[in-house]
Amino acid sequence: MTIEVVLLGTGNPLPDRDRAGAATLVRAGGLTLLVDAGRAVCMRLAAAGVLPFMLDAVLVTHLHSDHICDLNDVVTTHWVMNPTPKTLRVFGPPRTAEVMAGMRAMLQPDVEYRIAHHEDLTWEPSTEIVEVATGTILEENGVRVAVAGTDHRPAEPTIAFRIEHEGAAVVLAGDTVPCPGLDELCRDADIYVQTVLRDDLVNLVPMQRFRDTIDYHSTVVQAAQTAARGGVRTLVLTHQIPTPAAGSADEWIAIAREHFTGEIVFGEDLASISA
Ligand SMILES: [Zn+2]
Ligand SMILES: [Zn+2]
Repeated sequence: MTIEVVLLGTGNPLPDRDRAGAATLVRAGGLTLLVDAGRAVCMRLAAAGVLPFMLDAVLVTHLHSDHICDLNDVVTTHWVMNPTPKTLRVFGPPRTAEVMAGMRAMLQPDVEYRIAHHEDLTWEPSTEIVEVATGTILEENGVRVAVAGTDHRPAEPTIAFRIEHEGAAVVLAGDTVPCPGLDELCRDADIYVQTVLRDDLVNLVPMQRFRDTIDYHSTVVQAAQTAARGGVRTLVLTHQIPTPAAGSADEWIAIAREHFTGEIVFGEDLASISA
């Protein structure tokens, strides 16, 4: 095993008792990377044996709330549990710095209370924010992280990540429809994790605001087609919209199977997939 992927949260924006918000853990070459930080991410990290201070970097696909709403918890816990000052690196699309500044302002009272209370805590949370668009963004410990733009308009820009280590490659796509940037990242990847939507089910819901979500997410069919075009080995369906009915995993997999012959994983929280 050269890269391990753990689905921390497979939920969509609607709160659910069994599915945390969008977040995925990637471990490779001794690096521990968090991709997105949705609802309850710190609980799921703990379940995967990781505390936020152990993270080497956070990678953000886009700035929709369901992908970042618990990033403040990651920042606070990373800071307060570190015995010595340590900077948390955050890679994200343009405007990530703006969002992080707002989040940091929100945390100011808490930061003041804790520094006043703990004699040995004399520093504030430290983050290094790197806004990225395309190309290689990180090379460390034999791990390479590359980025390409995706299409989730009007949320823009949005990005997906390809993480490589010792010949293995994993692609973490956030919310996006099929697009050239995604195709480029997926080429010959071992694992492709895609947030997906069933348009056949969403179209049945008599609520326009919900049906609006169809036009900027990959359907299960589109995700399978992207996987097939790229010659991907394993397709992972996550962030399923609508929330899947109990026992319906085989139905979702069967829809993808019509367009993709490789392995298909129906994502559940804390599932682990290795390349
Ligand atoms: Zn989302
Ligand atoms: Zn989104």
